[in-house]
Amino acid sequence: MGKKFPSLFVSHGAPSLIIEDCPTRDFLRQLGKDIGRPKAIVCVSAHWTTAAPRVTMHPQPPTIYDFSGFPDELSSLTYPASGDPVLAKHILSLLNSQGIVGEKDLSRGFDHGAWVPLMLMYPEADIPVVQLSLQPNKGAEYHLALGKALLPLRDEGVLLLASGSATHNLRDYFGRNLDSAPPEYVWEFAEWLKHAVTEGATDELLDYVNRGPYAMKNHPTPEHFLPLFVGMAGGRKGQVLHDAYTYGILSMMAFSWN
Ligand code: ZN
Repeated sequence: MGKKFPSLFVSHGAPSLIIEDCPTRDFLRQLGKDIGRPKAIVCVSAHWTTAAPRVTMHPQPPTIYDFSGFPDELSSLTYPASGDPVLAKHILSLLNSQGIVGEKDLSRGFDHGAWVPLMLMYPEADIPVVQLSLQPNKGAEYHLALGKALLPLRDEGVLLLASGSATHNLRDYFGRNLDSAPPEYVWEFAEWLKHAVTEGATDELLDYVNRGPYAMKNHPTPEHFLPLFVGMAGGRKGQVLHDAYTYGILSMMAFSWN
């Protein structure tokens, strides 16, 4: 049996993170070195949402440029990691064994919620990656169960990487600088989140809509927060790996669970 990796939640920020000199970019570059090399990576990204779970079956997934209004040079970047159809089938059977019925996706590539952190963590793109989609209509508890269904993969040397954003109110994004200070509503939610994760306050986190300060203002839609619950499946108490902001309104917090 190989090394057992923690499950991770990272905040991927704006697509331009990859070309912006900031502490989060440095953090993600170092994170790949600290974690070491998994056999494969399963990535759950905020930027792939479907009614039922889907897994990428493409053997060589294309890089998707699912954003606009960012520098052109981003669209010349590619993340040429291979897919892993055998692992994708294995994921579907693990989900199935927990009563979750998923589907194969033969054409889907890597979205920027996956390739931005992966390009920083594993720039050689020599580790196979499978993406699994989110179901935003199904809520927090369901995504915790989705993460739990994936846990056997950790004993097989696979890294579980959940990619979203600790806070994500894009209405307040434009007009701010990369190093702007966070407004109070962002800071309060991020601090609440940090304490809840490190204390293992699972019930409080699952009820974040009611118990997180300014939850709906920080997450007007749930898709950037739901990856957290997939990561949380890895253990009760999480560790803070990174705590910083970009553009004031994006907490770039990252966690691991062992
Ligand atoms: Zn995003």
